[in-house]
Amino acid sequence: MKTLLPTSTAGSLPKPSWLAEPETLWSPWKLEGEELTEGKQDALRLTLDDQDRAGIDIVSDGEQTRQHFVTTFIEHLSGVDFENRQTIKIRNRYDASVPSVVGAVTREKPVFVEDARFLRTLTKKPIKWALPGPMTMIDTLYDGYYKSREKLAWEFAGILNKEARELEAAGVDIIQFDEPAFNVFFEEVNDWGIAALEKAAEGLKCETAVHICYGYGIKANIDWKNALGAEWRQYEEIFPKLQSSSLDIISLECQNSRVPMDLIELVRGKKVMVGAIDVATHTIETPEKVADVLRKALRFAEADKLYPSTNCGMAPLPRHVASGKLRALSAGAAIVREELTR
Ligand SMILES: [Zn+2]
Repeated sequence: MKTLLPTSTAGSLPKPSWLAEPETLWSPWKLEGEELTEGKQDALRLTLDDQDRAGIDIVSDGEQTRQHFVTTFIEHLSGVDFENRQTIKIRNRYDASVPSVVGAVTREKPVFVEDARFLRTLTKKPIKWALPGPMTMIDTLYDGYYKSREKLAWEFAGILNKEARELEAAGVDIIQFDEPAFNVFFEEVNDWGIAALEKAAEGLKCETAVHICYGYGIKANIDWKNALGAEWRQYEEIFPKLQSSSLDIISLECQNSRVPMDLIELVRGKKVMVGAIDVATHTIETPEKVADVLRKALRFAEADKLYPSTNCGMAPLPRHVASGKLRALSAGAAIVREELTR
């Protein structure tokens, strides 16, 4: 990227209310058939327009064409039975009724490639596209077939790699894997989680990112965060291994979080997407508050490796709040950019 401190969002953005129920995760579609296809494309235009108007440098689809960041991808695979549901604990945190793996998992056709191709026709800016990471995928399923988290993660990594290569061919500039599960299962992350992620990113010539956050601003996540104590040192367990991994960019959560910023030092040399926007509050950050986080991050990352971003996805926020936060992100980054080039 040529721009210093290029801004981007970590994930989802709110959908228009005619497409899906607003301020809701997993919101069902309000359209169907041809109308839904067209509606999703219209939403892609709108979310791109919102990002453009806010001055975001690296744009995304805002996850307008998916109901959920993990489930929608899995729905496109065979070997998973969505009727046969089991209740499991997600990230050791909350119970959810999830689909079952009942056979070999395979991707019969591309999942997001058409959407990416469409977005590519609409903009000249760099595009970042998010996919779920292998470990977060397995953590959203009951597995009655492989009966091994590692084996299933490895299968998903192969599937993700095919999708990622086709997204790259469609003109995507950065492929981001979402791995909130990395903040929970440290031993597995170091044993095979990062290796599975590298397999998902294998052979890509575009940039690759891993987004590791403390989750959307839903109650189960907020309660969990409140129980984590004065300092959130989860990243400390996994950053050393990520530092030596093949991934180019590490995305972490820093605004209003209790993550000690010096942990960024552990991935020195990598690009860091620093979350400078809190997605768990409707309060819109002042540009100065955004700039403050970025200045702190600059103590541990080189300026040309700092990518200002949001803590996580903003799908559950009202649209005007999300837009305001995008503008605050741009304005905050502009303050620090000016200071750096003065
Ligand atoms: Zn996130």
